[in-house]
Amino acid sequence: MVREMDAAEIQEVKQKIVEAGKYILEKGLVHGKSGNISVRIDENRVAITPSALPYPLITPEAILILDLEGNIVEGDFNPSSEAKMHLSIYKARPDVNSVVHTHSVYGSALACCRKRIPVFLDEAVPTLGGAIEVSEYGTPGSFELADGVAKAVGQNNAALVANHGVVACGPTLEKAMHNVEFVERIAKMYIMAKMVGEPINLSDDVIAMEREIFEALNR
Ligand SMILES: [Zn+2]
Repeated sequence: MVREMDAAEIQEVKQKIVEAGKYILEKGLVHGKSGNISVRIDENRVAITPSALPYPLITPEAILILDLEGNIVEGDFNPSSEAKMHLSIYKARPDVNSVVHTHSVYGSALACCRKRIPVFLDEAVPTLGGAIEVSEYGTPGSFELADGVAKAVGQNNAALVANHGVVACGPTLEKAMHNVEFVERIAKMYIMAKMVGEPINLSDDVIAMEREIFEALNR
């Protein structure tokens, strides 16, 4: 849970969201107007990117403030079409303060095949918490998609959105951004490892030990 921010801090969050949007565009994790970024500003409100604006045109003034029910508290644009997905994660996870959704290529390729990414890489557990699950399919913008994604994220920091893309979260915007980029790396590694042979999953003992590191870093 985060304490309430003052106006200057909210403005700073909006600026950071704008920069994060440009970063995911430059990195090729999204294209055009796809994907979206949000940050929790207090118990009941989040700042989120608008829909229908390409990232280079998004300014801090265009970032909306929504309550957790999706009502617009502040802002002139429409919120992201996938705002419900962000909000359902915030509701389920009080420890999450930022959510980033992308359409990155390798992660989306696995999401389209509805293939989860098992725990085959040491780095994955301390960063994401464990395996990356695939959500139940829901049409874009629907409550089914939003609920399915929150369920697939569970107590971890990422999930694949069936036939759609990737979502990652974290206790800060910086960590959520790191996590969404990491999902793309691990998705690429998984696809390449599958070309070489069958990736060997970590043992339950190792996963449990690494999960403790995740808890220390993320809670
Ligand atoms: Zn999307």
